[in-house]
Amino acid sequence: MNAEIHECACRLIDAWNVEGISASEHAWLEAHLAECAACRNRVHANEQALQALRLNAVFINPALVSAAKESVRLRARQLREHQARLRALWISCALSWILGAVTAPLLWQFLGWLGRNVEMSQVVRITLFAFCWFAPASVVGAFIAWRQARVVDREDDPEAWDR
Ligand SMILES: [Zn+2]
Repeated sequence: MNAEIHECACRLIDAWNVEGISASEHAWLEAHLAECAACRNRVHANEQALQALRLNAVFINPALVSAAKESVRLRARQLREHQARLRALWISCALSWILGAVTAPLLWQFLGWLGRNVEMSQVVRITLFAFCWFAPASVVGAFIAWRQARVVDREDDPEAWDR
């Protein structure tokens, strides 16, 4: 049989499963396959290869899948906890400002009374007022910065994930 005819048949066999062939090409190919064992074998090999590709499932170690799921769950829980902490921080900041605004006049009156009853200069009273105003926020801010630094250290430590 002519080599060009085989080549043409091979191209049609390959195209058959990929982009499809016309009805006339299909009829010609069927006629050729009836006479040519080599091309029938090629068709059979293509079908087997396609079937193997369709059945080929990727095997992933279940332990790896489980570990990945656990890591994702852990990270999601960390993010939720972080959001909850941030929310609590904003609420405490708002309460702190409201409390500071409400108590500032009372503190000023108390320091005025203290200044009248105990020998205390205006500079000391103002310094005390400023200290009472800023000290609680500074202490809380330093505490939050210290805790945040500890959290960052734990997240950088790969062994901390196992704890
Ligand atoms: Zn052939």
